[in-house]
Amino acid sequence: MAIYLDHNATSVPLDEAVQAMIPWLNQPANASSVHQAGRRARAAVERTRRAVGQSIGAERPSQITFTSGATEALHLAIVGSVGPGQSVVISAVEHPAVRGACEVSGAEVITVPVDRQGRLTAGQYADAVREDTALVVIMGAQNEIGVLYPVAEIVEAVAPVPVLCDGAQLWGRVPIDVKTLGVTMLALSGHKVGAPQGVGALWTRRGHLLEPHQRGGPQERGLRGGTESVAGLVGLGVAAERIPARIEQMSRVAELRDQLQQRLLAAVPGVIIHGVPGEGLPNTLAFRIDGVPGDVVLAALDLEGVYISSGSACSSGSVEPSPVLTALGLDPESARSGLRISLGPETTAEEIEQVMHILPEVIHRIRAASEDEF
Ligand code: PLP
Repeated sequence: MAIYLDHNATSVPLDEAVQAMIPWLNQPANASSVHQAGRRARAAVERTRRAVGQSIGAERPSQITFTSGATEALHLAIVGSVGPGQSVVISAVEHPAVRGACEVSGAEVITVPVDRQGRLTAGQYADAVREDTALVVIMGAQNEIGVLYPVAEIVEAVAPVPVLCDGAQLWGRVPIDVKTLGVTMLALSGHKVGAPQGVGALWTRRGHLLEPHQRGGPQERGLRGGTESVAGLVGLGVAAERIPARIEQMSRVAELRDQLQQRLLAAVPGVIIHGVPGEGLPNTLAFRIDGVPGDVVLAALDLEGVYISSGSACSSGSVEPSPVLTALGLDPESARSGLRISLGPETTAEEIEQVMHILPEVIHRIRAASEDEF
């Protein structure tokens, strides 16, 4: 059996979510139809709206707009809020979805840098905001290095400029309450919390008006035309109801992550931990190993049935340095060596025990092989 340790890329679909979806995949039901089947579908969609809203402390379900995931939620929030002649402030380590949407919006992008550990301060955001700044974007947690950002402090520092939080890696890991965060918008992704891929949501504070980015139907109050994926949204609803149970697992998950980190540091010379050890996402271990390319470790672990991730992308046959690690100030070679192990609520102590043996062995083998080459 493979050991799946890439939960930041996508989570294990919850069995209860899959079971709840099956009947909706097996019947015709458009949530806009007025007949009984349509009305049942509408009721199922609205139940999910309530569940998603409740999981983040929303005042009203109507503040939730369903999308295909966090990328689309970020796009709707950004393109719907800013335009040419305005500026938007983002961090240097935002998900590519944020930069992409900013480019589409035509607004000028002001980028707040991060330090060597990936951190930034609310003061940096306050300094970056200009008269023409119409939106500030900050991720709750960085997907590659697990750093948590001071979202509530940033909201306070840039007020009254609206703040969009990318909550894709936060939801289900750390409790979220939009009232405490104080943000104007929050983007969520279903497939990071046990729901199927292809569903997500944008929470919007009352009074913040968005320009629709996908016109052509009355769905989602005209903000996102197109027939809803009823089955997908039913899966999202079940996952949203299980958010507190997911978060409850995180202290156990953090212990397993810490054990793995300690073993790695003790058994492998030249390990450098990325992010802020002990302060980041409870499930994420990000690191590099001096002189060992990340993609080689990834491939060797893959052969052993252990699935992890590197931040580097393979394009035209060559490995590109991770933009996130580059933003931390790492040289291109180091930025190609990044590795990420991300645990989930399903991860067992036995799996981590196995990886604690396999990982040092694999790295030892890679190092021995590269020494033989010389
Ligand atoms: N934002 C962050 C921080 C992410 O990690 C991801 C997913 O990788 C996204 C946005 C995009 O989410 P989705 O896959 O739901 O579009």
